[in-house]
Amino acid sequence: MSHLRTEPCRPSPCDTCSMQSPLQAATAATDPKSVKVNLTTGTGVDIEWNDGHVSHYNFVYLRDACPCAMCEDERGKAGRRPGEPATAVPGALPMFKPHAKPLSAEGVGKYAIKFSWNDNHDLGLYSWKFLREICPCADCKASNNNN
Ligand SMILES: [Zn+2]
Ligand SMILES: [Zn+2]
Repeated sequence: MSHLRTEPCRPSPCDTCSMQSPLQAATAATDPKSVKVNLTTGTGVDIEWNDGHVSHYNFVYLRDACPCAMCEDERGKAGRRPGEPATAVPGALPMFKPHAKPLSAEGVGKYAIKFSWNDNHDLGLYSWKFLREICPCADCKASNNNN
């Protein structure tokens, strides 16, 4: 079991953005070209990034990845990565949870998106940078597991 981090750490140091303020360090990889939140169909979020990468997140994954302090803390105690579903304790009855789905989504400035989830939770600000970091595609997963 590896140790838990309280902060998401960058997979590799960035040698081109060290001169920029961290708040404005949007690079092609963390700047979305288009964002689609499929609220009505419930299929999740599709983001096309400026570097050409395409990410798809289902809502359950995003709910499990909620970056707010409360969820971070819960994940920390359970040793989960953002997006990893809670696993039932062996022998315990599986907890019934309705599928997470946002009731609404809104942009926060130019850097993040916020969801109001159907379990009344709306504290997480999903920055583009964070979303790119938790991209669940096979390529990104592979490189994230290497650190
Ligand atoms: Zn949360
Ligand atoms: Zn990806």
